[in-house]
Amino acid sequence: MMPYDLATQRVYPMTYSSELDNGQRLVAENDDANTSVMVGSGNEGQQQSQSSKFATGKWKQPPELFRTQGQLILRLQLDNGPYFIRISGGQIQHLDLEPNLTDAEKIPMKESNLRTEKMAPMKPMAPMEPMKPMQPLKPLEGMRPMEMRMGNMHMVMGDMSLSSQATGHSQRYCTQCGKPAGSADRFCGSCGYKLAPGA
Ligand SMILES: [Zn+2]
Repeated sequence: MMPYDLATQRVYPMTYSSELDNGQRLVAENDDANTSVMVGSGNEGQQQSQSSKFATGKWKQPPELFRTQGQLILRLQLDNGPYFIRISGGQIQHLDLEPNLTDAEKIPMKESNLRTEKMAPMKPMAPMEPMKPMQPLKPLEGMRPMEMRMGNMHMVMGDMSLSSQATGHSQRYCTQCGKPAGSADRFCGSCGYKLAPGA
């Protein structure tokens, strides 16, 4: 049997079911602490279903179902070894002794989607598109006397839109040459332009 880590790979409660020859359905469900076994007609409003609950703890692997001598044996693998539940004559009970399963017919059980559909893990969120850094606004050319003021105004506007669009992102850019500048730099390391105080 392959390693099967229910605790980390599966969603609880976990449900396995099997369609029986007589038209009934056996359902075995495991939550953190208990195993519930139900036998019923699979229809709504089933009249003649039995269920029993056993304090088993978590399964270590999917349950196995056997038919032998007119009764059903559910075999669970628990931390402290196998655990057997007999379904026979309308009774569902734990067996203290391991039954003889050498001639038993194994009945397939499948993981029921009745619950797992509802409890399927959410798909991971699509990764966010990385933010593009704001392009610095360059001072207009040919307006020397106004350049500093215009530059400062643009700088302020640029910082405002930068901080509102890229929250938490503090990359600054020189308004003169466009090179990245450190958040504490007072002058551009590339062209020496005096930078506005950091946001
Ligand atoms: Zn520069």
